[in-house]
Amino acid sequence: MPLHEMPARTGLIRAMARGFLGRCPHCGEGRIFGRFLKVRPECDVCGLELHHHRADDLPPYIVIFIVAHVVGYVILELEMGYDVPLWFQLGFWPLATLGLALGLLQPVKGAVVGLQYALGMHGFATLPSGGPAAPRGEEPRLGSTDERAADTRHGLGPA
Ligand SMILES: [Zn+2]
Repeated sequence: MPLHEMPARTGLIRAMARGFLGRCPHCGEGRIFGRFLKVRPECDVCGLELHHHRADDLPPYIVIFIVAHVVGYVILELEMGYDVPLWFQLGFWPLATLGLALGLLQPVKGAVVGLQYALGMHGFATLPSGGPAAPRGEEPRLGSTDERAADTRHGLGPA
């Protein structure tokens, strides 16, 4: 394959940001989650295989790290500086912790998948042959449906 046709890998920060937003780290268009926390086998748009990611328990570890520091800090600040009623501390913080954890878990998992992609870990060493999608806005959209875009890029086209 000529060098100029080699698909370029998205950089680390951009790949993780795309993953955080639930988008494919390679093309930035396709969605990487089919349902909550369930990574799709491959990107519908560019064909990047996603099934071999190994996020494992890194996302919950990171989420615990983030949420515990935020919630722990704010609880301490409230206790030290304000006269907060006990019912509020006991009622609000467990719910806030649960909400933050559930809300962050999928974005953080997406960012971890983006990290593994950017570093070429596991099966991410090979990229789809279609090449990277242009950054957002540079490439005209092929159509309104994802199926058309996916078919075109896979070279299948309309039968
Ligand atoms: Zn993609």
